[in-house]
Amino acid sequence: MRADAGTIVEELSHLLDDADIETDPEKIGPRLKDNSWLSPVLAEHISSMVDSSGPSMNVIALITPTSVDQLSACVSILAAAETPMIMLGAGTTNFGQTVPLDGGVVISTHHLNEILSIDEGSITVQPGVTAGRIEKAARETGQALPVITTTHAVATAAGWICGGHVGLGSSTWGSIWDGNVLGAKVLTIGEEPEEIVLDQSTVELVLHAYGTTGALTEITMTLVPASDWVELVVTHPDFDAAAEFVTALSRQRSLRLRVAAAQDPPLTRAFTALSDIVSPTDALTLVIVEETQVDDVEAQVTATGGKMTPWRGLGAEGRPTLEFMVYGHRMLWVKKLFADSAFLHCYLDQTHPLAQTHALKEAWGDKVLVELKYMQSPYMADRFGSGIDEPLPAALVCIVDGALDLEAVMASCDSLGILYQNPHTFFLDQKGLFADPARLRAFKDHADPKGLLNPGKFSPATV
Ligand SMILES: Cc1cc2nc3c(=O)[nH]c(=O)nc-3n(C[C@H](O)[C@H](O)[C@H](O)COP(=O)(O)OP(=O)(O)OC[C@H]3O[C@@H](n4cnc5c(N)ncnc54)[C@H](O)[C@@H]3O)c2cc1C
Repeated sequence: MRADAGTIVEELSHLLDDADIETDPEKIGPRLKDNSWLSPVLAEHISSMVDSSGPSMNVIALITPTSVDQLSACVSILAAAETPMIMLGAGTTNFGQTVPLDGGVVISTHHLNEILSIDEGSITVQPGVTAGRIEKAARETGQALPVITTTHAVATAAGWICGGHVGLGSSTWGSIWDGNVLGAKVLTIGEEPEEIVLDQSTVELVLHAYGTTGALTEITMTLVPASDWVELVVTHPDFDAAAEFVTALSRQRSLRLRVAAAQDPPLTRAFTALSDIVSPTDALTLVIVEETQVDDVEAQVTATGGKMTPWRGLGAEGRPTLEFMVYGHRMLWVKKLFADSAFLHCYLDQTHPLAQTHALKEAWGDKVLVELKYMQSPYMADRFGSGIDEPLPAALVCIVDGALDLEAVMASCDSLGILYQNPHTFFLDQKGLFADPARLRAFKDHADPKGLLNPGKFSPATV
């Protein structure tokens, strides 16, 4: 039986400083807003929750423990009271990962922010350390994170591995499942929480699991030798030429590519920061590559009839870095141009990727706008690929009138054999990212036997 809210808050307040326990719904509400507004389906659901239960969506407290011991003591109180718990990093995810579907208590990792050790090839941190701080500390040793979310300035280590999955660097190093996370420690959810140590062979039990399979207290990530990155703006007269360029570049395995993303021409206008150097009818490709390999990129630009303009990095001449125009950030630029749009993460046939984009465009014309990039990810290729040893073509499809056409475009993809990851559901096991969701579910049943961690994120079908 759940204890009443007053009793729970009183017990927690014996453990925590006043500043680390917030119970005012008006102050809790804004902290619960992630970026689900990008999905018309999730946005509507959340708005109806707020209408019926107020801004804090029945969350009775937001707490910020200052140590792992304190976190464990809070978990013990909440487990005894059978109260749902949602772990919170920076709250920047897009798929409703942190949305409290059954009220409870939100636990921020803000104070658990120590870098514990840096070795050659790895870094171990507490859950609340930002990706940006990890990158900075790693660079001081000549190393870097291979893959990093574009929200690295604020996104936390635990939020990244439990909520994110691909980002800057995925063209070369793949996803969180491709050896880029080496281990983690998780607390089980019960009256006597226990620590479980996951190594590289078991860490996938928490990866992209929306914090449903344990509360992470420590994370070890892979480091690679640091690169100096150069940003390039490339244009082609049409999308097919841009796609040919990106395909050739991505298949060149010796290249260290952070990203190469080709846009359908109607999307070019969305990138207003680039309007001085690109024509609105160009097919635009944003490239970030290792400094010593610019000549290789230029050779492919020339071979495909394109034009290349160097773009200065962060801060130079007040220009925003291209990092903030790709992956998740790209959606913000596109939304400014197409406010009602929705997105679908599609994966194309590895041998003939353009045949599928042509078929989609034939059916939908400019109501569907494509971005093409590639991922060097054995894990994702295993889920979405055609079984050949080439990088996986990933098309982030913008459905211009998402609220109207989303279901029909998904049906089109089904009939054309285009696989996709559905970002318009709260259920993590319905996104198509897991080979065996039941394995995650079984671990959850062990680590969280009462099902208190972030409830509502597994579909009832996964038993
Ligand atoms: C503009 C924009 C760009 C983005 N770009 C990318 C991108 O390039 N790649 C990408 O993958 N994502 C991207 N995202 C999504 C998101 O920013 C990242 O996934 C980010 O890493 C999430 O970190 P966070 O700290 O905000 O996590 P949160 O949103 O706070 O949490 C994410 C998940 O992790 C869980 N969690 C947090 N801490 C713990 C813990 N200690 N134990 C257990 N579970 C925990 C939460 O419960 C939640 O389910 C983007 C989002 C936006 C808005």
